[in-house]
Amino acid sequence: MSKIKILPEIIANQIAAGEIIERPASVVKELIENSLDAGSTRILVEVEKGGRALIRVGDNGIGMSRDDALLALERYATSKIYDDTDLFAISTLGFRGEALPSIASVTQFSLVTRETHTAEATAIRINGGKLIDVSAAGAPAGTMITAKNLFFNTPARRKYLKTIPTEMGHITDTVASIAMGWPEVQFQLNHNGKSVKHWPSTDASQSRATAILGSDVQDALIAVKTESDPVAITGFIASPQITRRTANGLYLYVNGRFIRDRMVRHAILQGYAGRLMKGQFPVAVLFITVPYDMVDINVHPTKHEVRFARPRMVHEAVVTSITQTLRQSLHPGSLENMPEEITPPAPTSSIGEYRSDYNENRINKEPREFQDKRDITSAISLENSDDASDTKEQPPLWKPKFFTDLRFIGELHNTYLLCESPDGLILVDQHAAHERIVFEQLKQKADASTPATQKLLIPETFDLNHREAAAFEKLIPSFLMLGLEIEPFGGTTFVVKSVPALLSGKELKPLLMEIASKVTSIGFSQGLALALDECLILIACHSSLRANQSVSYEQVKTLFHQMDTCDNPSFCPHGRPTWIKYSKDAVKKAFHR
Ligand code: ADP
Ligand code: MG
Repeated sequence: MSKIKILPEIIANQIAAGEIIERPASVVKELIENSLDAGSTRILVEVEKGGRALIRVGDNGIGMSRDDALLALERYATSKIYDDTDLFAISTLGFRGEALPSIASVTQFSLVTRETHTAEATAIRINGGKLIDVSAAGAPAGTMITAKNLFFNTPARRKYLKTIPTEMGHITDTVASIAMGWPEVQFQLNHNGKSVKHWPSTDASQSRATAILGSDVQDALIAVKTESDPVAITGFIASPQITRRTANGLYLYVNGRFIRDRMVRHAILQGYAGRLMKGQFPVAVLFITVPYDMVDINVHPTKHEVRFARPRMVHEAVVTSITQTLRQSLHPGSLENMPEEITPPAPTSSIGEYRSDYNENRINKEPREFQDKRDITSAISLENSDDASDTKEQPPLWKPKFFTDLRFIGELHNTYLLCESPDGLILVDQHAAHERIVFEQLKQKADASTPATQKLLIPETFDLNHREAAAFEKLIPSFLMLGLEIEPFGGTTFVVKSVPALLSGKELKPLLMEIASKVTSIGFSQGLALALDECLILIACHSSLRANQSVSYEQVKTLFHQMDTCDNPSFCPHGRPTWIKYSKDAVKKAFHR
């Protein structure tokens, strides 16, 4: 007798369930996806005890006939693909035909479904994969599926379920991530009979986004719409003042499907580079559209991962999309993409508290109420729209001059420049501002391969450890582009022959040590360009005005003039703000006037 046997169907389904169904949220995901594929416009999700006791998804979609309903519970039964050409042009969320039989094999399962044109509904009950009965029933058109006591018949797996709040958190996240991509569909989530989330149908994807992301994001969302054939990207990104401690604020979709993808995530972070503090994550909702044949979604049973035919191209499209969108929204000289809905928030606290809000934001990385900066963005946007109406009549005589127009009052602690603007008090961090200017100048020259260098009269040598030397040596040819002429000097010693002109007279060793340790720690996994940018940031930092260094009126004038020519004047290259504002209203309120 042969030792090899075909597995009984129930076991085969339980094995498939092991891949698709990790926890209650996985069941919720599969059922909602089926409802969407069935063209529903209303989806109700009800769960009890974090989905451990009960999961029910009801919809008003096309429903199933009695025969189809029975067939749907067989493994590999799907109405969504017919042959192998369909497999490479999948436009539905499901296609593997595994979800229903898998769920039915590990729960106490029931399905009630009715097509619009028939009078009678079909009800099917299954217990741990065994058919109990099929009957006629009365029910509204659509489908309602109930799955009770997940993993009741596979105790080893039930053991891995987490606490009710944890499982409920996953369910809420799952519903939110799907609902984000389907604003026209109404979603309702109930837990133990109480409403947890309700997202009414809307034709504005921005309303759905703010309903899900929270009101702190509302005023900070910037619309994204870029196309670099064949990749189109739409959605919203929050301005860099809004950050999260994890990547949970990133909602990524490829051809309408919610995915988790490290490459795309990395591209988003790179797009924000220089605008976020270390360890902060931005908030973004991105819908990436690529031709169906350029992305494989059949990589993993949960379909959360995808494989792009040309990942580099997608990466680049995302980086460019984010950089452009951010630049246009922050640069005072640009009118496009300006978030129109930004209005100055009502002052809510005294100056002292404002200050502490600001510090808290920096430390807690949750700048919910970074009011100063938002005031500023709105000031810029107002200024620009005035300018726009002027330009209709006659060509502009000046570019918008946000910084140049400030009235310099004096210096605070030899570190901050105090200035008056028509609607408030502006503080400019002199080091951060100068760093931004120097960074952009160096970068421009490096990009054009025309660094301004200065030969050292006496070449300077320095030593590194082995690891650092190895990383450093790889960059030597590229350093030339930055204006740094360095040569190996035997062993782990190097000699500097020329430096960027900006650095002349400055102490070099501390800078070179920092560069070496930086390139060693970040490595080149993220590309040479990024490593060089990091070096530029360090050079900019070392050649810039320091805090605690008093400046003359003339220097301030030049500084402000140069700030107005920067692409991204509001942040230093490390991502710290270069300026903050206390609005006139806030000052008034603090004095109880
Ligand atoms: P897949 O979604 O991969 O096709 P499933 O096992 O999830 O596989 O579902 C099997 C089939 O059952 C689907 O192809 C569809 O025809 C039908 N079906 C499942 N859920 C619904 C629903 N809510 N409304 C209408 N038809 C459904
Ligand atoms: Mg499905």
